Amino acid sequence: MTEHMADVVVLGGGSGGYAAALRAAELGRSVILVEKDKVGGTCLHRGCIPTKALLHSAEVADHVRESASVGVSATLDGIDVAGVTAYRENIVAKKFKGLEGLLSARGVTVVNGAGTLVPGPAVVVGDEVYRGTDTVLATGSYSRMLPGIEPGKRVLRSEEALDLSEVPSRVIILGGGVIGVEFASVWRSFGAEVTIIEALDHLVPNEDVALSRALERAYRKRGITSRLGTRFASLTAGEDEVAVTLADGSTLTADYLLVAVGRGPATADLGLEAAGVTLDRGFVTVDEHLRTSVPHVWAVGDIVPGLQLAHRGFQQGIFVAEQIAGLTPVAVPEHAIPRVTYSRPEVASVGLTEAQARTQHGDRVVAYEFNLAGNAKSEIIGTAGIVKVIRVADGPVVGVHLIGERVGELITEGQLAVAWEAHPEDIAPLIHAHPTQSEALGEAFLALAGKPLHAL
Ligand SMILES: Cc1cc2nc3c(=O)[nH]c(=O)nc-3n(C[C@H](O)[C@H](O)[C@H](O)COP(=O)(O)OP(=O)(O)OC[C@H]3O[C@@H](n4cnc5c(N)ncnc54)[C@H](O)[C@@H]3O)c2cc1C
Repeated sequence: MTEHMADVVVLGGGSGGYAAALRAAELGRSVILVEKDKVGGTCLHRGCIPTKALLHSAEVADHVRESASVGVSATLDGIDVAGVTAYRENIVAKKFKGLEGLLSARGVTVVNGAGTLVPGPAVVVGDEVYRGTDTVLATGSYSRMLPGIEPGKRVLRSEEALDLSEVPSRVIILGGGVIGVEFASVWRSFGAEVTIIEALDHLVPNEDVALSRALERAYRKRGITSRLGTRFASLTAGEDEVAVTLADGSTLTADYLLVAVGRGPATADLGLEAAGVTLDRGFVTVDEHLRTSVPHVWAVGDIVPGLQLAHRGFQQGIFVAEQIAGLTPVAVPEHAIPRVTYSRPEVASVGLTEAQARTQHGDRVVAYEFNLAGNAKSEIIGTAGIVKVIRVADGPVVGVHLIGERVGELITEGQLAVAWEAHPEDIAPLIHAHPTQSEALGEAFLALAGKPLHAL
């Protein structure tokens, strides 16, 4: 066995791992990054980027279909799946090349291979041992399945759904969370009949219920069927179709079933527990500094309990690298992390839902909803939706919730308000350019500050 030393060894080159590697290298540390597949991980190759490319193709299809409504003559001849795939893969390939170039330019040594943690601690890949003064675990997550369901020709996880070489004519999606509603949006725009089955009472059930209801309305209008509060009972997967039986006894059939019931931590068979790392239901137990139970071993990204989002992984990677380098960075609290579902319409939020705010602050909570019908730019681009802002009476903004086309781009302002604990009175004098959708947020802050302009 050959031993290689570095200041920092990172296991897993996805959003969390590569961010830790890049920042540690930037701070002058020698870094070895062990990756068994491709740097960029789930987000770049199987998650955020390819799905958003798909959603963009879907949006263009909708625009062509609806072009007459804005006086443009065009007809949608169909979806060229090979063309959609080429467009998507080209974007991923460019970003992958860029990331490889960046890691190399920062002097990060990338080792290709599956690593395991051994006591010491060190990361072992085949006959090679990589020992760091500090080790960062960042092995990400995998698509969960339900008991009785195996992936196969007609039963897809998001990975296979991305690679589908046809537009299904009928598809059932198990799970009305972010991944489920995003694929529902794409396939509906491409012309499929889509049914979402969700065991809880709402789509995107972690969001403020006002957004969930608005999304359910929008999906109904788009012809997407949602079976809410309905549990999956059993599946029969044939050669050409699937039959899904629900707990209420009804059976649905479709060309494909997409299982989108969440993601589990990829921590099995990595030697973590043998090396002394404490796990809780597979997730790595960390303190507020993201330190594991083994000194100088840290964990970032989807293996750490909480929101499974790429930008959280980036931030955690940076946070850990800076601590390793002796800096004292400020931890970003989970509630200040923006969340976006890139469906049509988009759902974006940061901070507490109204229900959570009432649990924490009782009757002192004031919530205000501004309807996008009162926003000129939203009218121009033809989107319905709402902006909902929640504050504590005479206190700060604690939650910002948006639904409507393109509103994902607006959440940064919400994040600033929530993270800086701004009072609506502080934000109300700030000017939003006219006509923009951001004005809807400005209107909500004005109203909460007691001086609405375009509302009563
Ligand atoms: C369909 C889909 C859409 C998504 N869309 C979004 C979105 O729009 N926005 C967003 O913020 N998030 C999105 N996510 C979530 C996002 O992809 C994850 O939160 C993010 O990738 C987590 O980063 P990570 O570094 O923890 O793990 P990962 O990105 O999963 O990276 C882990 C890496 O570790 C490697 N690895 C694992 N085990 C080993 C080993 N033993 N040895 C070496 N390497 C190993 C893996 O190959 C992988 O490259 C999406 C996810 C999916 C599935």
